[in-house]
Amino acid sequence: MELVFLGTGSNNPSPHRGASSLALRVSGTSNIYLFDCGEGTQIQIQRSAIRASRITKIFITHLHGDHIFGLPGLLCTLSSSPSMSSLILYGPLGLREFIETTLRLSCSHLSFNCEFVEIIPNSYDGIDETFIKTTIEKQEKNERCRIVNIHEDGSYHLISNEDNCSVYAVSIKHRVPTYGFIIVENDLPGKFDIKKLQESGIKPGPFCSRLKLGETVTLDDGRILSPTDYVGPSRPGRRLVILGDCSDASNVIPFAQQCDVLVHECTHDDSLHEKAIDFGHSTPSIATLLAERCDAKCLLLNHFSQRYKSKTTIESNTIENKENLNKKHKREDDNDDEEDEDDDDVTVDLLLEQAKQRTSRPVFIADDFFTYTIPLPK
Ligand SMILES: [Zn+2]
Ligand SMILES: [Zn+2]
Repeated sequence: MELVFLGTGSNNPSPHRGASSLALRVSGTSNIYLFDCGEGTQIQIQRSAIRASRITKIFITHLHGDHIFGLPGLLCTLSSSPSMSSLILYGPLGLREFIETTLRLSCSHLSFNCEFVEIIPNSYDGIDETFIKTTIEKQEKNERCRIVNIHEDGSYHLISNEDNCSVYAVSIKHRVPTYGFIIVENDLPGKFDIKKLQESGIKPGPFCSRLKLGETVTLDDGRILSPTDYVGPSRPGRRLVILGDCSDASNVIPFAQQCDVLVHECTHDDSLHEKAIDFGHSTPSIATLLAERCDAKCLLLNHFSQRYKSKTTIESNTIENKENLNKKHKREDDNDDEEDEDDDDVTVDLLLEQAKQRTSRPVFIADDFFTYTIPLPK
């Protein structure tokens, strides 16, 4: 299992940081799950080692523009791929309407089968009940869309035992209905004890793979090998927690205990705590507190305000035309968050330092194209 961060900026894409998107290579298959699809995601995919036609499922955390404005374009591009046969999109109520309206008004048609699973928020999300009711009424007439009601505890079991994993959606606190996704890998087979086999005077051969799968094997010389003698107990699969924008994701705690990786947004640094909360966002303190409460094995921070440059950007800015880049960064129209002032001296290192002051767990800054392989359990 491998995470590839395609876009890690909040609010808007910029020359140095793409809008939100994250790809997961699912273990044991060639399938890719995509989490959010901000503007420019398809270009980021082309710049990465990810093959777009391998995407089988897209999960949308919430409907703010910096998380969905790349979707119509990506779907149209995928439409020209002969290997695309179907795609399922999971996300909040309204996702299907956004896609279908955009495709209809732009006279675009998809060549593959595109299905939707929309999550109906509950009172936790504080959404207007009339909006929910009218949208559900519309949905019932649509065969390509399944709607699911989030439970009282703010969770929903979206996928069971597909691609060797299950996926849960959990409500988290932002300014609009927003979900975190928990990916739980199926249990893994136990470790094969090849040393014990050799100590029994048996030469390893093709029969080992059958033994690993739990089969009893009879050798040519008549000896019978039982898997329980050479294969250890099965190991719990890996658990990944991928959060959307949030100022409070404590709802995920029961589902995220001892997760192998927690991907948490970190839009602002700790000195801007109030601003972060006002806009439904997080700081290093908020992210590390959740990592502690979940006993997470690793914390990956993303969704940075464009104020926080990566070090490589600072270096390239000094070589390239810095003034030009700064002019380009100043964008006024805002689909999600507040406009940030540009400050060339601030880098994501500030966020990392603040996080490391609050936790001794491994913490990483996920810049664009940062790749993290989730280690197998020991
Ligand atoms: Zn955002
Ligand atoms: Zn947002």
